[in-house]
Amino acid sequence: MLISLFDTHCHIDFEHFDADRDEVLARMQQAGVARIVAVSVELNQAARLAALAEVRGNVWFSVGSHPNHEEAAEPTVEQICALADHPRCVAIGETGMDFFRQHVEPDIQELRFRNHIRAAKTVGKPVIVHMRDADTVTMRVMREEGMADCGGIMHCFSSTWDIAAQALDMGMSIAFSGNVTYKRNEELRDVARQVPDDALLIETDSPYLAPVPHRGKRNEPAYVRDVAACIAEVRGISVEALAALTTRNALRRFNLQE
Ligand SMILES: [Zn+2]
Ligand SMILES: [Zn+2]
Repeated sequence: MLISLFDTHCHIDFEHFDADRDEVLARMQQAGVARIVAVSVELNQAARLAALAEVRGNVWFSVGSHPNHEEAAEPTVEQICALADHPRCVAIGETGMDFFRQHVEPDIQELRFRNHIRAAKTVGKPVIVHMRDADTVTMRVMREEGMADCGGIMHCFSSTWDIAAQALDMGMSIAFSGNVTYKRNEELRDVARQVPDDALLIETDSPYLAPVPHRGKRNEPAYVRDVAACIAEVRGISVEALAALTTRNALRRFNLQE
């Protein structure tokens, strides 16, 4: 059976891939990764990612500003909407709340997060949410801003089932990254087992967080297959079935055709 995976979150435009980007994209196809979303961490990236997505039929992109990215000027709702008005832009983000490293003040992060949700609701695209050591405030902002109206993705989900359930109630998808394969993350694998079929997504967040057996090396989209294999095992299904399921979910989430 032919496998067709969708890496819903990677940073293929980062300098980590400057020396061998074409090879990385070729390896990805060989591994059965048919589609990827190249995710923004700053507004300036939009033009570069749009250019990449225009020439690569299997690459889409997102527009947004990471909670810990120091922007020269805070992005406005209008700016985000204008940059997202591109046929290959399928999401807003990554954005959210991150108190692990506070390069950006919490109140600025919160304002930024709110502006992204407002932009997403305006343009009708889902939000890619980055949440680290900030579960309570992230859920509160999502609730207050009516995240359910645009939906989105809890990317690199690394929290508890209780938080996953709250996000699911707001119509969010839950995306798992390489850290779900790490030996000590038994509890996270249990969350990955419980997420309903129609809300499950996979990603690499490459170049970061390479899954086992590549842990510690540079991550790349081809390795989303290892994330898929791990989650398939805990859910007791084949990798092919897990691939089909998560690809269908990603296409629906990003409003893409089969
Ligand atoms: Zn992130
Ligand atoms: Zn990321």
